[in-house]
Amino acid sequence: MKEKVIPYKMLLEVISNSYELVWRIVPEHEMQVLKMGLKNLEKCLIDYIQKAEEGLPIIGYHFACPAEFLHCFDCVPICIEGTSYLLAALLPNGSEKYYDLITHWGHPYHTCSSQKGVMGMVLDDLFKFDVITTPTAPCDNTYASYPFFKYKDIPLVITDMPFIREEKSYEFYAEQIKIGLSEIGKIIGQEPDFDKIKKSLEIENQSLKLEFELFELKKATPCPLESMINPMSAAAAVFMAGRPEKLDFYENMLALAKKRYKKKESPIEERIRSIWPYMTIFFDLALCEWLDREIKMSVLLDIFSYNLYDPVDTSSEDKMFNDMARKSMNFPMIKQSIDFYDDFIPEFINTTKEFKADCGIFTSHIGCKQFGSIPQLLREALRDELGIPLLIIDIDVGDKRFASIKTVKDKIRMFANTLL
Ligand code: SF4
Repeated sequence: MKEKVIPYKMLLEVISNSYELVWRIVPEHEMQVLKMGLKNLEKCLIDYIQKAEEGLPIIGYHFACPAEFLHCFDCVPICIEGTSYLLAALLPNGSEKYYDLITHWGHPYHTCSSQKGVMGMVLDDLFKFDVITTPTAPCDNTYASYPFFKYKDIPLVITDMPFIREEKSYEFYAEQIKIGLSEIGKIIGQEPDFDKIKKSLEIENQSLKLEFELFELKKATPCPLESMINPMSAAAAVFMAGRPEKLDFYENMLALAKKRYKKKESPIEERIRSIWPYMTIFFDLALCEWLDREIKMSVLLDIFSYNLYDPVDTSSEDKMFNDMARKSMNFPMIKQSIDFYDDFIPEFINTTKEFKADCGIFTSHIGCKQFGSIPQLLREALRDELGIPLLIIDIDVGDKRFASIKTVKDKIRMFANTLL
């Protein structure tokens, strides 16, 4: 029973060491986003590991079914995609060993590393899931990767997520979420407690308010927060979902941003404002520092921080589930990857204009084939509408062996030189 979440123990060790190191070595006023992020991640992991050791069921979930929904159970929710990438970010060779394990088992190498990481860990018996849940969205990788878990005799609960976002789809998906939670409950022997979801959702709503304020403050020139806010926000969305640590993180981020904004201070001597329509690079978090310090390029937003959804109305069970469906279907990356690009391009152009960005950088991730046609169209649209360039980097954002960090830096440096 004690060894059901070994990768979480690996993560905790590396987070605790990194946290101690940055607190001891880095001057107090520097890397504040990273320090605050690591502190809260550490707290969440300690709690989840303790719960796993107490024998609570381990529920794996796709990021479109956010952890706060699973708070209706006494459980340890583990995000398949988030865990693969947090390990990719923090371990010296990331999740590579696990990508290779699952590739050698026979899973196609070109599928999404966000899922391959945990699949390899399961193959290596490092996670012992009691059940895993996923929607039928947003990408081929999701459909094609999750059935693997059945091979390891892990029950799989699948919710049917519609592709079209309209009222009747939200009603349908709300029902699907309920059915899914009830199936999970039967498997783990617990009744879903919707009052507990309500509490978690209310924390999420409070956090969302802070995130919206932060979103506005990041429009300031210079940007008051370091680029590290982007990967740390992605980590907060997954590991701190529905928990007080998320509020603590965003309260501190907001206080810091306000203080700097009032004094017109920034941790970056900002010469270039960049905006990343898709993901930042997870296999080397230090890239954010390099961009800030060497290229003097701020990363204002990435896919996990510019696409915020609406708060969930918790005043009645029906409204709550309807809004939970709305949230899931409009979650960052779900919304973009499930849909055609007609909405994505104009929305992104507007965001770029609002944030007064000088350029875009698009990480064209090998897993996201459904998104592969967009970068060139977006590049043309940004050039025609706003006259700003878009750098496209072919990459696996979770595996440095596809495009190394040196290749990435060389491309960005050359691109930045053309802007100055
Ligand atoms: S949308 Fe892209 S990055 Fe997200 S899970 Fe699917 S393939 Fe991976």
